Amino acid sequence: MATTTLPETEIAKRKPQVTKYVYFFGDGRADGNGKMKDELGGKGAGLAEMTNAGLPVPPGFTIQTEACREYMRHNGVSQEVDRQMEEALKHLEQLQGQKLGKGDNPLLVSVRSGAKFSMPGMMDTILNLGLNDQSVEALAKRSGNPRFAYDSYRRLIQMFGNVVLEIPKSAFDEVFEAKKKQKKAKLDTDLDARDLKAVIAEYKKVVKKHAKRDFPQDPHEQLVMARDAVFRSWNNDRAKHYRRINNISDDLGTAVNVQAMVFGNLGETSGSGVGFTRNPATGEKEFFAEFLINAQGEDVVAGIRTPLRISELKRIMPKVYDQLQQIATRLEKHYRDVQDIEFTVQDGKLYMLQTRNGKRTGRAAVRVAIQMVEEGLITKEEAIFRVEPNQLYDFLVPRLDEKEIKPENILTDKGLPASPGAAVGQIVFTADDAVAKAGHGAKKNPVILVRAETTPEDIHGMEVAVGILTSRGGMTSHAAVVTRGMGKCCVAGAGEVQVDEHEREMRVKGQVFKEGDWISLDGTTGRVIKGKLKTVEASPDDPELTKLLGWAEPFRKIGVRANADIPRDAIQARAFGAEGIGLCRTEHMFFAEDRIPHMQAMIMARDEQERRAALKKLLPMQRDDFAGLFRAMDGLPVTIRLLDPPLHEFLPKREELMVEIAVLPHANAKQKKSLVEKYRRFGAKAAGDLKKVLPKVLGRVEELHEFNPMLGHRGCRLGITYPEITEMQARAIFEAAVAVEKEGVNTHVEVMIPLTATLKEMAHQAAIVRRVADEVFEEKGQKVPYLVGTMIELPRAAIVADEIAKEAEFFSFGTNDLTQTTFGFSRDDINKILPTYLAEGILKQDPFAVLDREGVGALVRIGIERGRKTRPHLEVGICGEHGGEPSSVEFCHQVGMDYVACSPFRVLTARLAAAQAAASEKLKVEGGRTK
Ligand code: PEP
Ligand code: MG
Repeated sequence: MATTTLPETEIAKRKPQVTKYVYFFGDGRADGNGKMKDELGGKGAGLAEMTNAGLPVPPGFTIQTEACREYMRHNGVSQEVDRQMEEALKHLEQLQGQKLGKGDNPLLVSVRSGAKFSMPGMMDTILNLGLNDQSVEALAKRSGNPRFAYDSYRRLIQMFGNVVLEIPKSAFDEVFEAKKKQKKAKLDTDLDARDLKAVIAEYKKVVKKHAKRDFPQDPHEQLVMARDAVFRSWNNDRAKHYRRINNISDDLGTAVNVQAMVFGNLGETSGSGVGFTRNPATGEKEFFAEFLINAQGEDVVAGIRTPLRISELKRIMPKVYDQLQQIATRLEKHYRDVQDIEFTVQDGKLYMLQTRNGKRTGRAAVRVAIQMVEEGLITKEEAIFRVEPNQLYDFLVPRLDEKEIKPENILTDKGLPASPGAAVGQIVFTADDAVAKAGHGAKKNPVILVRAETTPEDIHGMEVAVGILTSRGGMTSHAAVVTRGMGKCCVAGAGEVQVDEHEREMRVKGQVFKEGDWISLDGTTGRVIKGKLKTVEASPDDPELTKLLGWAEPFRKIGVRANADIPRDAIQARAFGAEGIGLCRTEHMFFAEDRIPHMQAMIMARDEQERRAALKKLLPMQRDDFAGLFRAMDGLPVTIRLLDPPLHEFLPKREELMVEIAVLPHANAKQKKSLVEKYRRFGAKAAGDLKKVLPKVLGRVEELHEFNPMLGHRGCRLGITYPEITEMQARAIFEAAVAVEKEGVNTHVEVMIPLTATLKEMAHQAAIVRRVADEVFEEKGQKVPYLVGTMIELPRAAIVADEIAKEAEFFSFGTNDLTQTTFGFSRDDINKILPTYLAEGILKQDPFAVLDREGVGALVRIGIERGRKTRPHLEVGICGEHGGEPSSVEFCHQVGMDYVACSPFRVLTARLAAAQAAASEKLKVEGGRTK
């Protein structure tokens, strides 16, 4: 076997590279920098950047995200991670002249998570690590403040017990509260050193009892266990949930930051605070921070003590305040964005613990983006990307008047912003009370339903309430989902609020609220505020919003239309900037009170003649509906879809009918009367008729009954089996168009055939539409321009799109049905399996909310490509729910659609998302929406 000799340099190159897992920062120099968010996470990158910039940052090191990914893969980290961590710890010990948890002056560290994208409060933190039975005494002596030392130790046991050993918080809270009660202490700070020593002894017992082991005394063991727990916290339910709703990949992992502790609880010259460089609710340019004297960081955010306004710091420690403000300004300039900072003052010396881009409301995002352009900090092009398209919803709902909000009245700001908007009302604790207290008409009374969590049984109360507050549940809890559907303000999962439904009491921040007390909810930020605040109306024409959109929209390549069925919605959509109607679901017009009897008569008809008679009654009503839409959309395209749903949806339910027939012989006069009322439109005039009418209706319902109605007698299949329905609808459309054109309205009619799968289906329906159009134009002596096209909502339609395009003059992707038929998931029942699929990572997102690019998206691409092969200028749009979801809008732009269509309240979002998609392509900036 031939051998070759490699030159030395080659050998060096071929040596396996050791991954750098641990990055040190301290003493003005850091291994990493602010750009390394992938490796160091946002917090680690920020600490490195601040250290390099010479800001006062306590030294430490960051264990990078690769170690977390390793931990997730192998359920542990490699020896190399341990080795590098020990080395970094030694470096830290040398720099500080201290040893972790040892000696007269023990080094104590914090261990904190920090992922690439900030996930506030989702993962875990441990402070004061390194304390044990010996080092606590050393700390007591050194600080001359035994109370502080024992307080720090008890906090460590509590945090470590909860985060690492997974002992419920309440087990520690009980001990602490019992001590406070015994000592008649009002505040935590009323407990002295001796009390805290006793608490520590009790805490240790709690650990032993729950974890079946002692609290670890070895500081190195504490560190390894804490690091691993932080890695595990990446996959806790809260964090997984947060990532899902914020589109953050589960694969990123978190970094762990180990940092020398500085103490804000050393007495009256120490403190901790958090803040924003600008107001995160309004965007106002003001240093917006809060702090607490003699407290550690988590006290400020936990809401146990009410923090002070930052202006107080100016009074108490003017030098520290000036330095802090200078640093805040510097950081904002450096990062060119609003910063969310954490700081601690130890014995009068300021330390920066964190800086990251601050989260903000939609209104604040718009305002800040504009201000920063005016200040020359960012360009207009950058400003476009400083607002998340979904945030524009904030402009379409009322909000609380910020001027009225006093910090001391904020009961919590940590509820989940489950459904945006504002609500001001009187508290009720049950759905029944909500109904009783909400009143009607002139006596209408705004109530806010406050529950630990809501269930489907609360629906009636939720309907009448102006807002909902729950103390439990996440962003997809019942309360959150239902209220978003209702367009109603909701703050969910407000953990600081205790709800006692039996006592009809809400307790928060030591205050008790009873039924009838006024509160105000801010569903955009998750705040709950005491009292009856004023609200400010929705403002889609807000000048700042208009300005930002004015910068963004010239980039936009695709149109934005609305899905609207009635003139009122169309007018609203147009006010939000809709450029036409992408989908008018005509069946919604048939459900109206005055229409449904004729619709039902049409369905019950025994033959074509009877059917035509019923349709004739519907014709003028449909014509009026369409005329209204054309007027509202004067000059813009209006896409009208012919009848789509299975007919039995218009009839009484089969099971209900069966029960009614079964109980009819035993029914009393009152029950019979209500049945006559219900079945009058089917021919029941008196109780005696019911015996005949009910079985007749049931007979027809049975005939129409299908096992899979979504795959059944619906869409164009209806118009093919009952061509007279298509005829009537086409006639109504063209008669309306001609009539309004005569009034001077400019129409662009697009008639859309639903659920086609074959060319012949399309040709069949198109032929009827075109024939009727000719008839109407002939009769009225006037023509209007129009297109006949189809929805592409079945996989076959996408695949044979070249064929279908021979007849179809436009395509609109119905991605609700296309998702349903591509996955074979029922769109109505997916929620039974979706939570498991998301939790198991089988699906990343709900495919009915975010377009599945790989599967459904591939069909969309095929459909467009093949359709345009036949008809190069084929107009293509989307009208499924995805048309208003930013990442799906981006996809629609990328595949070359002409427009997206979405519900009126998502028009602003779609406009910005479409503009961002085009701008990111043109400016080559990172605009991809999937993190
Ligand atoms: C669709 O299927 O995407 C669609 C828009 O139609 P509908 O939701 O009415 O079925
Ligand atoms: Mg559909």
